[in-house]
Amino acid sequence: MTSLLLDDVTLTYPDGDGRLTALDRVGLHVPAGTLTAVVGPSGSGKSSLLAVAATLVTPDGGRVVVDGTDTTALSPAEKSALRRDRVGIVFQQPNLLASLTCAEQLQVMAHVSGRGHRQARAKALELLAAVGLAAQAGRRPHQLSGGQRQRVNIARALMNDPAVLLVDEPTSALDHERGAAVLDLLAALTRERGTATVLVTHDRAHLERVDRAVTMTDGRLAERAVGAA
Ligand code: ADP
Ligand code: MG
Repeated sequence: MTSLLLDDVTLTYPDGDGRLTALDRVGLHVPAGTLTAVVGPSGSGKSSLLAVAATLVTPDGGRVVVDGTDTTALSPAEKSALRRDRVGIVFQQPNLLASLTCAEQLQVMAHVSGRGHRQARAKALELLAAVGLAAQAGRRPHQLSGGQRQRVNIARALMNDPAVLLVDEPTSALDHERGAAVLDLLAALTRERGTATVLVTHDRAHLERVDRAVTMTDGRLAERAVGAA
C-alpha cells in the first residue's frame, strides 16, 4: 500500500494584495518502509510540504492520501484522529517539557490516544531503547545533549506506531557526526517499523543515507540523484 501520496498539490498563502505560491503542483509518492529526503533552501516550501502531508494545512488544490485514506473530504475531527493514529511529526525544535523525564515525554502521547499506563510505559521504554537512550529514560531534558533531545523527539513521534513519519530539519542544530547518526537512526527506524518517512533539510550532507532525494525550489519538486553535489 502507498503510505503517503501527494498528488498535484498546490498551496498558497495571502501575501499583500496577492497570493504567494508555497507549493506548486507537487507530486510525491513515498512507499512504506522507505525514506525520502526533500532538500531545498530556506523559504522553498519544505515545512509547508510537511504541514500539508500532516493534514495540518489544507491545500488549495490536489490530494493528500495518508496510509490509503484520501484526506480531501475529511472533517477537521477526522483529520485530527488520522493525525493522532497514523502520522508522526518531528518538528525542528524538540519542544520537550522541562519537568518530564524522557519516558514521560513519550507516555504523554499514549495518554492522548487513550492507552493504559503500563502499556504506555512499556512502549516508551522500548522506543527509548530503539533510539539508543535506554539508560536516559529517567533523565529530564536539561540532562541531555542536543543530539539526545532530538532522539527523544523522534522516539516520541513513534509512540502511536505511525504509518507516516514527517521530520523537519532534524540535523540543523547538530554537528556533522551527530547529524549522520540521526540520519542513520531515521533510516533504520524506517526499515524496521515500515514507516513512509519524509525528511526535509536545507543541508546536503548525509544524503547517501536515504532511499531517494528530491529537490524543492520555489515550491516545485524535482528528482535529484542520490549522492549528487
Ligand atoms: P522552508 O521550510 O523551505 O523554509 P516554508 O514552507 O516555511 O519554507 O515557506 C515557504 C514560503 O511560504 C516562504 O516564502 C514563507 O515565507 C511562506 N510562508 C510560510 N508559512 C507562511 C504563512 N503561514 N503565511 C504566509 N506565508 C508563509
Ligand atoms: Mg522550514
